[in-house]
Amino acid sequence: MEEKKCYSSHVVVLPFPGQGHINPMLQFSKRLASKGIKITVSTTLSSVKSLQSRAESITLESIYDDNTEGGITGPAALMGFLEKFEVVGARCLGELLKKLENSECPVKGLVYDANLPWALNIAKQLGVVSAAFFTQSCAAIACYYPLYVEMCGKPLSVPAFSMPGLRQPALPNPASFGSETEHFPPLIKHILNQFSNIEKADWILFNSFYKLEEEVLKWMTNLYSTVRTIGPTLPSVYLDKRLEDDKDYGFNLYKPISETCMQWLNSKEPGSVVYVSFGSAAALSAPQMTEMAHALRQTSSNFLWVVKATEESNLPNKFVEETSGKGLVVAWSPQLEVLAHQAIGCFITHCGWNSTVEGVSLGVPMVGMPQFLDQMTNAYLLEKVWEVGVQPKVDEKGLASGEEIERCISQVMQAGERGQEFKKRAMQWKQFAKEAVNEGGSSDKCIDEIIAQLVCT
Ligand code: UDP
Repeated sequence: MEEKKCYSSHVVVLPFPGQGHINPMLQFSKRLASKGIKITVSTTLSSVKSLQSRAESITLESIYDDNTEGGITGPAALMGFLEKFEVVGARCLGELLKKLENSECPVKGLVYDANLPWALNIAKQLGVVSAAFFTQSCAAIACYYPLYVEMCGKPLSVPAFSMPGLRQPALPNPASFGSETEHFPPLIKHILNQFSNIEKADWILFNSFYKLEEEVLKWMTNLYSTVRTIGPTLPSVYLDKRLEDDKDYGFNLYKPISETCMQWLNSKEPGSVVYVSFGSAAALSAPQMTEMAHALRQTSSNFLWVVKATEESNLPNKFVEETSGKGLVVAWSPQLEVLAHQAIGCFITHCGWNSTVEGVSLGVPMVGMPQFLDQMTNAYLLEKVWEVGVQPKVDEKGLASGEEIERCISQVMQAGERGQEFKKRAMQWKQFAKEAVNEGGSSDKCIDEIIAQLVCT
């Protein structure tokens, strides 16, 4: 007869259904599961179908059928989806929690994406421990705080966190997200609303680690004493190796072209390849694609460029054929494996928080090319705070020229003093990341603190 596993507690985890949200929240779930907690991940039906849960202690439950109710089919559909998800998802999440309350292993906690603040009310109604999980950097959230206070028409109770020289966060696709003349377009209001009830959550979690954002974490903890860092949430094999069989996120929005990428990288010299990827949500404009292509043609380094199906038509004619000697273009890569490969010398990134944390935790120097929102803050962190890379200068339209990108690649890839410094510091951050999640590290201690509350509730 199969032996019944004994869990010390049960937690429901609610991520927003996006690659950059599911990855870190699923990884956090694995960490909790490794410490004896039963996990139920609840999200949209299509995400549940694409998730591979190997761990016996992680169950998947759909709380929203995006085929019938409507999913996120493009930027324009996002606001409509969020409204519907709140109505249908909240009802189904409540039903799920009630069902699990009476199960063999009753639910004691809800970890919800901070981007879905309505979930807190459900946790409160049922009297379970609540944890808001931010999938952005603490610095990015700190930048939004003064805007939130302004939106509420209140004065600031503490001085804003200072980041001199930070570029103004642009909106993704302004045409889809409300008029540019609106001071608080709907998407910005949605982001700022994350603060609306945050002080009522038992915990405020960040996929970050103490040393990485020390100054801003002090500022944020002064505002909310329940702030804790639990990251980086990369699979354990890349960090402390304490979790068995935790080699990947187990979730892929697109199918990675793994074999081709890895075989190609195996044929390249250590530190000789520039990896270029702009994540899942950003799509480079046609002029920026042209400039990037120009930079990659000019550079003396090899390159691996992720060009998503949505961007492919903007590639210059014959680019792939003409650069096949030194470059590989794929529609989606196994990014963690790629970044961990010794052939990679530089990561040109849009500075999505997951990509940024992955680059830092794997010791890869970066060229930050932020496109919108929190990406601007993350690029600032990598250049000015951690000093592991540079940002190309952009014109008034936010466009970086091919020459400028190529100049940044050379700075990072060169064997000279500057390139060596970037590499040395990146390797140091890699070590700090490992220490944070390893036994007794800052993030490990925070996870234990949260578990202690879950167990005694
Ligand atoms: N990613 C990947 N293959 C790719 C590009 C991205 O696996 O070709 C993964 C990457 O490792 C990261 C996530 O997709 O975990 C992107 O998240 P991020 O926060 O960087 O950006 P977003 O997609 O949310 O803009």
